[in-house]
Amino acid sequence: MRIVDLRAVPVAFADPPLRSAFGLHAPYALRTIVQVRSDEGLTGLGETYGGEVPLRDLEAARELVVGQDPFRLTRIEAAISGEEALEASQQRPWEGRLASPRRAFAAVEVACYDLIGKATGRPVADLLGGRFRERVPFAAYLFFKHAGIGGADGVGASSRAAREQDDYLAREALDPEGIVRQARDFVNTFGFRSIKLKGGVLDPEIEAEAVRAMRRELGPDVPLRLDPNGVWSIETSVQIGREIEDCLEYLEDPTEGRRGMAEVARQVQVPLATNMCTTAWTDIPETVELGSISILLTDHHLWGGLLATVKLAQLCRTFGWGVSMHSNSHLGISLMAMAHVAAAIPNLTYACDTHYPWQVDEVIQGGKVPIRDGYVEVTEAPGLGIELDEDALARLHEQYLRCGLTKRDDLIEMQKLEPGWQPVRW
Ligand SMILES: [Mg+2]
Repeated sequence: MRIVDLRAVPVAFADPPLRSAFGLHAPYALRTIVQVRSDEGLTGLGETYGGEVPLRDLEAARELVVGQDPFRLTRIEAAISGEEALEASQQRPWEGRLASPRRAFAAVEVACYDLIGKATGRPVADLLGGRFRERVPFAAYLFFKHAGIGGADGVGASSRAAREQDDYLAREALDPEGIVRQARDFVNTFGFRSIKLKGGVLDPEIEAEAVRAMRRELGPDVPLRLDPNGVWSIETSVQIGREIEDCLEYLEDPTEGRRGMAEVARQVQVPLATNMCTTAWTDIPETVELGSISILLTDHHLWGGLLATVKLAQLCRTFGWGVSMHSNSHLGISLMAMAHVAAAIPNLTYACDTHYPWQVDEVIQGGKVPIRDGYVEVTEAPGLGIELDEDALARLHEQYLRCGLTKRDDLIEMQKLEPGWQPVRW
């Protein structure tokens, strides 16, 4: 089997006005949909980061991928990373470099696994060592948010659709009561059994109160997490960490950097998790040496693909770390890729993050992937078990061209709402 084409299509989909430590989500989130076509007429699907840079990388990767055997992923990775060309001394250092070869390869790798699965009649999980579980647990991902549902209806509370809707998508949640209501909606709608709150937005004492309020509302058996995205000082992290350590299953990136995290880890009981201070293989020795974390949030989009994620989880076991999974705003192709790799990781010790309930648009046939009882099912269908809806892809691509966004910038969006706003360090 040979790859005869690589197609990368940028898309935009409605995203509600969710708050983060960096500002505010724009009315549209961006992704890139990848299709790898074989000489046997099969197409494999992938999905990765959105906007101009990932698109340029994938377009640069096309000539390196076309003509290759999709089973020979090591060679494809070497070609995209530039190792092959460097070894052959064909490439001068300033030529042909991708902004992020690891991310570009990850997107191509997922599409190749989908292709291989379709060619062999096996689900992707079975190509990654085999499934350990039939369904994968995901966590509710709560956000402080403004009223509104995003997309053409924008951010404002005055938008018609937002006024007419009374659910977690439309409703404002800027205090502990709002978060408790959002938590209830997520549990009732999707059956989630674990809950994560994106923090680093309001005064840390208010965020701690939101965690305590959820504990009171949901009882002692629902694991809770808080992720302030590294904007708390060491002192604040220790103080708040101690205040709510009885309520949390883990505290995610309370402060910045591996040294800061290690200092906090020494002073609190609650386990620390990260998707920020350890984001590359070369970060791991120092993370181990310092004792910065107890849990690593994997992400196949960032770490170099599905097989890399299986290997990373093995490494976590070596160091006695728990394993969870990080998420950005994404569509169903990414959700199924996450589910297949998570199914093949025996030591997935925590439910995976996902932004998926915040998205209403979809590019796959049949619409959104169901989340039931907090789980996504990994079926026996070949590949990722999904097919592209070409009409939906064309619509979301049109939306990308129309919305004018070319990268994610939460700061600019926040400043539209509050001129002069800057990220706060607590
Ligand atoms: Mg995080």
